[in-house]
Amino acid sequence: MTTRRSPVPTDQGGRSVSVLGSTGSIGTQTLEVIRSEPGRFRVVALSARSSMELLVAQAREFRPEVVVVGHSSQVAEVRNGVPADCEVLVGAEGLEGAASGADVVVNGVVGFAGLKVTLAALGAGKRLALANKESIIAGAPVVRQARLTPGAELVPVDSEHCAVHQCLRAGGPREVSRLLLTASGGPFRTWSAEQLAEVTVADALQHPTWSMGAKITVDSSTLINKGLEVIEAHELFDVPYDAIDVVVHPQSIVHSMVEFTDGAVVAQLSEPDMRLPIGYALSFPERLAHPFGAIDWSGLQRLDFEPPDRSRFPGLDLAYAAGRTGDLAPAWLNAANEVAVAAFLAGKIPWSAIADVVKATLDAYDGGHDGGGSGAEAGRTVDDVLEADASARRVAEGHVDDRARQS
Ligand code: MG
Repeated sequence: MTTRRSPVPTDQGGRSVSVLGSTGSIGTQTLEVIRSEPGRFRVVALSARSSMELLVAQAREFRPEVVVVGHSSQVAEVRNGVPADCEVLVGAEGLEGAASGADVVVNGVVGFAGLKVTLAALGAGKRLALANKESIIAGAPVVRQARLTPGAELVPVDSEHCAVHQCLRAGGPREVSRLLLTASGGPFRTWSAEQLAEVTVADALQHPTWSMGAKITVDSSTLINKGLEVIEAHELFDVPYDAIDVVVHPQSIVHSMVEFTDGAVVAQLSEPDMRLPIGYALSFPERLAHPFGAIDWSGLQRLDFEPPDRSRFPGLDLAYAAGRTGDLAPAWLNAANEVAVAAFLAGKIPWSAIADVVKATLDAYDGGHDGGGSGAEAGRTVDDVLEADASARRVAEGHVDDRARQS
């Protein structure tokens, strides 16, 4: 571990950006956006836990001051490849430094590991461009506290929430009556319960409209992703669960909508292209000059909407229930789901067991180690969240083993 100059200086022109999780789907698309508007943004930090060759290539192109790798075994390879003036840091401490030293921190880290990045960016009073929904869901009680830091600002990258963020600009907070989150319905929207019992990993990784990482693609197939997004919307926009609805919209053109008290519904439309919400979060309150996902109206045929099927996709209501329970229940939901999805991808449990494992785990939620109770939520610490995550994982792994033994 080396020490580093901190914070990263931001007076060299262009808004400074840390891209954390830079070799993943969000990270690489963030760099495409930055590449599209030369001089507007300046990359000051990159991080990755795998794909070191790509990380080195990114560092050569964007010349960040810092790159952060996951393990000390990766340092030598990366240090030999990156420019000589680029510092190479390791692990959580390096990540936290990189997350506190830029104007905008793009959190594209996958899964619960993104929590530390979220807290470091908000705690340093920076803008967080949040693609890592797990951190605001699992870490809700502590992220709420971190958002109170002067200067801290959270702009969602998740396409639905970015859409809501845009639609909300059409009215005042007291004029909002409902958020309508759209869902593609995933690859199994039209599958029968019998077909769902036979889903393979390859089936689940075929998303009809979006190209994303494996975890979120499986989450879309179970609708648990949409359930997590309901909780994310509640946290981001402070709207009660009864006023957040999900609408299935297979074309993924309407990215979400806001209904106002006078009955007007405002929607945001574009082709499904994550570079639009990424660019929005980087440039807000201005807009990018370069278009991503602009619709070709001569080709658009129709937009369909239908209610979600809550019996074939029970993950949606599991998420609503965890959200309404609040406190650390969303942390349990998220951890159980991560364990179940990993077990499915590893071939240990069938697709249909993902929701079973999540439900069985949530049934064991006891309000956290102290039993929760009034006032517990406001005093939560990162350790409480970590402990909840670990407890839920233990319980979920027990259920995975039970299921694996059955099949
Ligand atoms: Mg989304």
